[in-house]
Amino acid sequence: MTTVSPPINLQNALLEVAAHLYVWALKDIPQDLRDALAAARDRETSTTGKRVLETIHRNIQIADEQKNLVCQDTGIAVFTCRVGEGFPLHPVRIYQALKAGTERATVEHPLRSNAVHTITRENTGQNTGYRLPIVHWEFVPDWDGLDVKCVPKGSGSENMSFLKMCVPADGVRGIKEFVLESVVGAGGKPCPPGIVGVGIGGSADYAMYLAKEAIARPVGTRNADPIVAQLEEELFRLLNETGIGPMGLGGDVTVLQCHIEHADTHMTLNPVAVNYQCWAARRASAHVAADGTVDYDREF
Ligand code: SF4
Repeated sequence: MTTVSPPINLQNALLEVAAHLYVWALKDIPQDLRDALAAARDRETSTTGKRVLETIHRNIQIADEQKNLVCQDTGIAVFTCRVGEGFPLHPVRIYQALKAGTERATVEHPLRSNAVHTITRENTGQNTGYRLPIVHWEFVPDWDGLDVKCVPKGSGSENMSFLKMCVPADGVRGIKEFVLESVVGAGGKPCPPGIVGVGIGGSADYAMYLAKEAIARPVGTRNADPIVAQLEEELFRLLNETGIGPMGLGGDVTVLQCHIEHADTHMTLNPVAVNYQCWAARRASAHVAADGTVDYDREF
C-alpha cells in the first residue's frame, strides 16, 4: 500500500487519484489475477491452449518491463465510489474530479480514446463524454472517507453481456442454463479465460449492475452466502467443461473464475445477467481520507 500526503485541495487530489487509478489499472494487473493466470497455464493440457496462456504471460511480462499497457483497449473508465456521509466533498464535485482525472490521464499519458457519441460515432478524444465516465455510487453512514475503484472495461468482453428475465419456475436450473448458453455463445470473442460475472435477483438493471460488481472481485473469492458460493463453484466447474479454452481455441481452461452477486427480488421475477471480463481483468482502488490523505490499494 502506498500512502500519499494530504493535499491542499480535495477536488484536485481526487482528480489526481482518478488519473492515477486509470493508468495503474491499465498497466499493472492485480496479483490475484496473475496467480490465477499462472495456475491456468499450469493446468491447461491442450497444446494450443497452453501456448495461448504462455503468450498472455509474455504479454504481461513485457508490459511490466516496459511499463506499458497490458492491452491496447483502454476500455471505458468505470468507477465505483463508496462515499462516507461525512466526506467533505459533494458527489457532484467528486464526479467532476473523476471526469477531469480520466481526461488528464488520456491526454497526458496518452491513452487511446474510445469514447464516441453513440449515434454519430464521433470520438470525444478524452475517454469522457455525455454520462461518461460511468460512476456507481454507494453511501456509507457514520464515516468520513471515500473509496474509489476503477475498472476499465474493454469492448471485447463488454460486448459479451447478456440478460434474461427467467421466470421463477425456471429456478436455479434456468440460471445455470442461461450462464452456460451465454458463455458457450460468446466463444473466443471476450478473450478468454476470464471471469464470468453473474448477477441474479433484483430487477433487470440491478442484475446487470450486480454482474459488473461480480467481475470486479478478487479472483476466486466466494460469495458470503454459502448457497450462492456453492452455485459459483458448480458453474466454475461446468464452464470449464465446455472445452472452449483459451481464446476459444479449445482447452481445459475456459474461465478463471465464476463470481456471483445476488439481491432479493420480486416473487414473480428471476432475472439473470452475465457480464464477461477478459483475461486482462484490470482494476485498481484508492482510499481517500477526509483530510485528503490517499492510500493506493487494490481493494476496498
Ligand atoms: S476484451 Fe480484454 S483482452 Fe480482449 S481486447 Fe478487449 S481489453 Fe483487451
